[in-house]
Amino acid sequence: MFDSLSDRLTGALKDLRGKGKLSDADIDRTAREIRLALLEADVALPVVRGFIAKVKERAKGAEVSAALNPAQQIVKIVNEELVEILGGETRRVRYAKTPPTVIMLAGLQGAGKTTLAGKLGAWLKKNGHTPLLVACDLQRPGAVSQLQIVGERAGVPVFAPHPGTGVGGEGALGTSSDQGPVDVARDGVAEAGARHHDVVVIDTAGRLGVDSEMMGQAAAIRDAVDPDEILFVLDAMIGQDAVGTAQAFADGVGFTGVVLTKLDGDARGGAALSVRQVTGVPIMFASSGEKLEDFDTFHPDRMASRILGMGDVLSLIEQAEQHWDVQEAEAAAAKITQGELTLEDFLEQMLMIRKMGPIGNLLGMLPGAGQMKDALSQVDDKQLDRVQAIIRGMTPAERDNPKIINGSRRLRIANGSGVTVGEVNQLVDRFFEAKKMMAQMSGRMGMPGGNRRNN
Ligand code: GDP
Repeated sequence: MFDSLSDRLTGALKDLRGKGKLSDADIDRTAREIRLALLEADVALPVVRGFIAKVKERAKGAEVSAALNPAQQIVKIVNEELVEILGGETRRVRYAKTPPTVIMLAGLQGAGKTTLAGKLGAWLKKNGHTPLLVACDLQRPGAVSQLQIVGERAGVPVFAPHPGTGVGGEGALGTSSDQGPVDVARDGVAEAGARHHDVVVIDTAGRLGVDSEMMGQAAAIRDAVDPDEILFVLDAMIGQDAVGTAQAFADGVGFTGVVLTKLDGDARGGAALSVRQVTGVPIMFASSGEKLEDFDTFHPDRMASRILGMGDVLSLIEQAEQHWDVQEAEAAAAKITQGELTLEDFLEQMLMIRKMGPIGNLLGMLPGAGQMKDALSQVDDKQLDRVQAIIRGMTPAERDNPKIINGSRRLRIANGSGVTVGEVNQLVDRFFEAKKMMAQMSGRMGMPGGNRRNN
C-alpha cells in the first residue's frame, strides 16, 4: 500500500537531514521532489498544487523551534498537510437516533460493494450491532447469491428477493422475485425494523461505467429508504479515473462517506489522496484484501504516518488488543522475565501473534518498515509454519524442558514434522539464546522477578 509514494517521500525528506538551517532553495527543491512523488502516485493535479503551495508557505514561514531541527520541522508540516488532505479527523458512522440505521452502498460494478457489504456486516457485528444485509443488486447475475455467501461467511443474515430464500437462516419470508430493487430496499428496511436489526446495509447495482440509468436507480433507492449514510465504494486501483467517477456519483446520487477498496493492490494510492479533497466527503473505511477481516476504519493520521514511513503503531496495538488475552500475555511476560519460558509458551505466543494476521502486514506497521522492506520480505508465514510444525512434533516433556532434546530425539522430531535435523537444531539453539538474552535484559532493566543488578 503506497509503497512507491512512501519511498519517494521519505527519500525527498531524508536529503534534508543534518542540515542546520534550510535555505529557500532547499525548501523549493524538496517541494519539487514531493510534487513529483505525488504526481507519480496519480494524485489529482489540483490537489498536488494545493498541497505543495501549503507546504512551501508553511516551511518558509516556519518559526524556529527549540524541539525540532529544520528537517524535522518540514516532516512535521508534510505530515500535518497529508493528514489534512486525507480528511483530518477520523469520520465514524453516524447511527440513526431511532434504529434501524440505513447504510446504502453505491459504486461501479467491480468496485467491491458486495464484498464490502459482508465486511461491513462482520465489522458491525463485532462492534455489538445486529446488522441485516439487503440484496438490491438485481442487475448483475449472481450478485444476490454472492451476497448470501458473504453474509453467511460473516454470520450476518441477508434479505434477498427470491421467494423462499428469505432472511438468511432466520426462516423469514423473502419478497417476491418480480419486485424491483426499490421495493426490495424498502421491504428490507421494514423487515429490519420488524426483526430488530439495528443497522441495514443495502447493496446496490453498479455498471462498468457511469450511466444515467444506474444513477437513476440508485437515486430512487435513496429516495425510498432515506439512508443515514450513503457510502461510495471506490476501487483505489482505477487511478486517475477515481476523481471523475467520484464526481459523477456525487452529482448523481450524493454520498456521505467514501470506502476505498483494493488498497492492497495499489502501489500508487492517488485515489486515496485525491478523493476527499475533490469531493469534500471523508474516507470512512479502507479495504485491503478479499478476506472479511481485511477491512478497517480509515484514520487519516495513521495513514499519513504510514505513508511517511513513521509506522502505524496505534493500529498494531489495536489489533493486539483485539486478539490478545491480557492476562495470558502478562503471565507469559512474567515467565520470560523469570527465565522460565518453555517452548510450549513460545508456541502459544506465536499462535496469538499469528491470529493478528499475516506476519508481513504486522511488521509493515512498524516505524521504518519501508526502509527494511527487503529484510522484511524474507520473513514469511511459511517459515513460521515450519517452526510451529517442529514444536508440535515435540513431546510435552521436550517442550517443557528442551535440554532433554538429544540427537535421536532431534532426528525423530525432524522426521515427524517434515524438516531437516539442521532446522530443529537451529530452533532449539535459538530458543536457548533468546532465553539467555531475555534473562539478561530483565536483569538490566530491573524488571520484577528478574535477577536485578546494581549498576
Ligand atoms: P461489486 O461488483 O462492486 O459488488 O464488486 P465485488 O464485491 O463483486 O468485488 C469485485 C472483485 O474485487 C471480487 O473479485 C472481490 O473479491 C475483489 N475485491 C473486493 N475488495 C477487494 C480488496 O480490498 N482487495 C482485493 N485484492 N480484492 C478485492
